[in-house]
Amino acid sequence: SNYLANQLSNASENNKQSVFAILPDHSEITYASLFENAEKVAAALVEAGLKSGDRVAVQVDKSITTIQLYLGCVIAGGVFLPLNTDYTPSEVEYFLVDASPAIFICDPTKEASLKAVADKANVARVLTLSADGKQGSLIEAIARHKAGFEAVPRTADDLASILYTSGTTGRSKGAMLTHKALASNAQTLAKAWHFTSNDRLIHALPIFHIHGLFVAINVTLSAGSSMYLLPKFDVEKIINLFSDSTVLMGVPTFYVRLLKSENLNQDQVQNMRLFISGSAPLLSETHAQWQDKTGHAILERYGMTETNMNTSNPYVGERRPGTVGRPLPDVEVKITHPDTGETLPVDGIGHIQVRGPNVFSGYWKMPEKTAEELSADGWFLTGDIGVLDSSGYLSIVGRSKDLIISGGYNVYPKEVELVIDDVANVVESAVIGVPHPDFGEAVVAVVITKGEITKSEMTEDAIKTATKQQLAGYKQPKKIIFLDELPRNTMGKVQKLALRERFNDLYP
Ligand code: ATP
Ligand code: MG
Repeated sequence: SNYLANQLSNASENNKQSVFAILPDHSEITYASLFENAEKVAAALVEAGLKSGDRVAVQVDKSITTIQLYLGCVIAGGVFLPLNTDYTPSEVEYFLVDASPAIFICDPTKEASLKAVADKANVARVLTLSADGKQGSLIEAIARHKAGFEAVPRTADDLASILYTSGTTGRSKGAMLTHKALASNAQTLAKAWHFTSNDRLIHALPIFHIHGLFVAINVTLSAGSSMYLLPKFDVEKIINLFSDSTVLMGVPTFYVRLLKSENLNQDQVQNMRLFISGSAPLLSETHAQWQDKTGHAILERYGMTETNMNTSNPYVGERRPGTVGRPLPDVEVKITHPDTGETLPVDGIGHIQVRGPNVFSGYWKMPEKTAEELSADGWFLTGDIGVLDSSGYLSIVGRSKDLIISGGYNVYPKEVELVIDDVANVVESAVIGVPHPDFGEAVVAVVITKGEITKSEMTEDAIKTATKQQLAGYKQPKKIIFLDELPRNTMGKVQKLALRERFNDLYP
């Protein structure tokens, strides 16, 4: 049998006529048709040359067909490898060379340039799928097949996907995810967040990333729930769907933007039971504003490409702003000393390590990096720095690569950012380290203020006063730079690497 396919079709087994997705044109896709179409995709992929364990690289827009392509790939015994739709052909080339897929599926409008790239990478077959999911050579291939393709047997330990990390701290790495890793996390989350077949998720995230792909889709399937499938994030469309939905999964910028709409209010969200946030830190202020305006406490959780989700604020119980909650039931979390690797006591700041069935089985073609970060006894060094409190809640302090060492002292950017964010008229900030001739690195604050007061002296003075009052000298920013906005990627992650590069020559 096929481990993941079984897991994901179990919940709907006795209710196949129930709705899986409502599409932008209001048509409905039942579970029966979802899996029938996935079986046709599987047959088409096998016809195109796919063998068990082969990678299928995919750079196409979000549509129901893309979801069926994911499921079809799993059913065919393939390894699903989605790529960010923003990647340029030369970026795609890196992934195709690195992953050597048997099949590459791209948008027909980009076929000319991407076919050349695929040829260079020796990809045997290139198929196309249009943005609306209705046209292209993949669709023609699907049309030649009937449903009923028998799933290729795959065990718990076989690979289901290679998912590349977002590339926030450097070059993207391919995380090898097994059937078990995906299935176990989907089940754990569906349970932790009380998903049932009565739930309807608003799906507005991209599906080339862990959040919109495995968290959103696998959790929905595992519970036999349904979803509104939106091609992209759209404030007013989402607000209109609240009355007929129960859950929203979003990145923090979703909530920031929704809060700006005049149409968001308590009446609108009466039917909603859960708002989830992740992929980047949610400001406590956003949490408070959301609670104020809607009466709901956003549930923040923490995960990454390599591990799926690790911790979550509780469904029942206190959702603590500024924390990512407690370890999920089958996940262990420990905080370790950066130098000795020893586990730190409660309230100690150190490296976040995680272990559990959700953890990946290594970086694709990077045995040395895998050995450095994934220990033989299963602990994964996440690259995030954090602290566990006495009630087991985890707070993320930052990434180890963003840690600033100034004059020999460690500066955790988050600690400085929290002080700055509290200053009147400051919207948000990013604290970075830039090369400095005396200190090694200098602490620099990049600050976004509200509207007109950008660059006002008042704010700068207020920031200096606040940091002087609350922080030791070595933590205080040597320079405050005002920008109109922070550079972010599609998942709303602040690109500190880009900021560091931009301000690299501040102290020549
Ligand atoms: P790369 O590993 O290539 O540098 P990335 O780490 O941004 O990129 P992802 O796997 O998409 O790639 O992101 C995982 C990271 O996102 C986590 O390690 C963590 O730093 C951050 N993250 C996820 N959820 C949260 C959260 N709730 N709060 C703070 N940070 C979060
Ligand atoms: Mg990472």
